[in-house]
Amino acid sequence: MRDRYDRAMIIIALFATATIALEAFVCLLIADFLAGLLHWAEDTWLAPGASPLLDKWVVLPNIDHHRRPGAIREGSYWVNNQVSIFLAAVPLLLLVGLNVHAWEPYLVILLASQSNQFHMWAHCANPPALVKLLQNSGLLQRAALHAVHHKRPYGVRYCTTTSYLNPILDRIDFWRGLERIAVRLGATVYRATPVRQGY
Ligand SMILES: [Zn+2]
Ligand SMILES: [Zn+2]
Repeated sequence: MRDRYDRAMIIIALFATATIALEAFVCLLIADFLAGLLHWAEDTWLAPGASPLLDKWVVLPNIDHHRRPGAIREGSYWVNNQVSIFLAAVPLLLLVGLNVHAWEPYLVILLASQSNQFHMWAHCANPPALVKLLQNSGLLQRAALHAVHHKRPYGVRYCTTTSYLNPILDRIDFWRGLERIAVRLGATVYRATPVRQGY
């Protein structure tokens, strides 16, 4: 009787652990998608000259990253991640203000705030050992996969955290579909055009 009880408790504990792991994995995918959406929007719709603030913090660094991909390795943690952390603070304050207690949205925000760190590691031939392990597992994206994004016209592989979303989103032509809708609504695609110096 006691054995059966212990076995049941072990199964319940394993099930609970697997559920939490699965939820955390879904949070990682959502964070990857949100950061990819932002990256796609930057590459596609932003051109210098609209706002000095946007130029300084988003547009020019974005163009520079396409021009000099390896330079991301020279930036400090703070230089590489400050904009993402600042952006993530907005939904974080909103969740706190709304008294949201579920851990999942906070994990999404935390992971999304680190998206440029994961991106930076996808530019390293020799990242830290644990990162390399995670890259080999697919949980983080390795350099060979991200390198494809850096080919003109910068039209694919916008998600830079995991290895899982890009094959699906690119296969179903997700980004071009969004662009067709936006263009029909009057938006202009600036990606890889002279206003972005070809980047
Ligand atoms: Zn890009
Ligand atoms: Zn990159």
